[in-house]
Amino acid sequence: MSDLMQGKKGIIMGVANEKSIAWKIAERLKEEGAELSFTYQNEEIAKKVIPLFKEIEAKSYHKLDITNDQEFEAVFNEIGRELGSEVDFIVHAIAGGPSREDLKGKYLDTGRSSFLRSMEISVYSYVKALQLAYPFMKEKGGAAITLTYYGGEKVIPNYNIMGVAKAALESSVKYLAADLGQDGIRVNAISPGPILTRAASGISDFRDLLRNFKQKSPMGKLVKQEEVAASALYLLSDLSAMVTGEIVHVDGGFNITG
Ligand code: NAD
Repeated sequence: MSDLMQGKKGIIMGVANEKSIAWKIAERLKEEGAELSFTYQNEEIAKKVIPLFKEIEAKSYHKLDITNDQEFEAVFNEIGRELGSEVDFIVHAIAGGPSREDLKGKYLDTGRSSFLRSMEISVYSYVKALQLAYPFMKEKGGAAITLTYYGGEKVIPNYNIMGVAKAALESSVKYLAADLGQDGIRVNAISPGPILTRAASGISDFRDLLRNFKQKSPMGKLVKQEEVAASALYLLSDLSAMVTGEIVHVDGGFNITG
């Protein structure tokens, strides 16, 4: 521990349980001295996550379904007030939208509502979060990260509409970084290798994906949430002071292989 986040306050979105990538990021940021406010999706998830938030001594936690704009605005304004109108960082670890049928078979068969929901939940929510946090970040500057996946760059079997959503998310990272750089707000993404979490369990044949990843990856092993959290610490702290608009792969080199 080195107090890299001492005096920094931020919002973590997307903890569903103790396996969530967002949870390991939260633990690491807390260890480094950050003050944390959380949002969680719904009452069912609340049962699992509220004990975690209490354990980590969260500043606050709020229910927020990011498809509800009124709730989104109210919660971000409330968190802004709680954090004394200063937000130093945002962790956006939210993905969802596709129907189960659309996470297998052909992308060609994607349904309209599945397509639109995936874009809304997995892409627009990052734009909206930065829009709403901007008034609390613009004075001092800050940093935001989202989580993307290699399926946004190359075709991964069954990932389908989520791959297309991740491509749009990665492009949004660059547009947001361009918009916010003047205000000292940095916008980046981490692209981890596959990790067995709640979200990943919805993807058909995920275990085949893990096996293939392990075989092909130069480092020959799976990625752990803690390893993603270490890169999140880099991107959210002053260690990456001049890094923005980047997609940082935390995948043991998988993306460089042919
Ligand atoms: P997870 O299931 O723990 O997290 C996904 C989160 O999205 C959950 O907390 C869920 O509540 C939230 N969410 C979905 N719809 C929502 C809504 N309408 N309103 C509010 N929240 C909503 O799984 P995870 O693997 O930790 O996923 C976090 C991020 O990491 C996602 O963006 C995912 O695509 C990305 N990612 C995961 C992997 C992997 O293999 N697990 C690899 C690369 C990228």
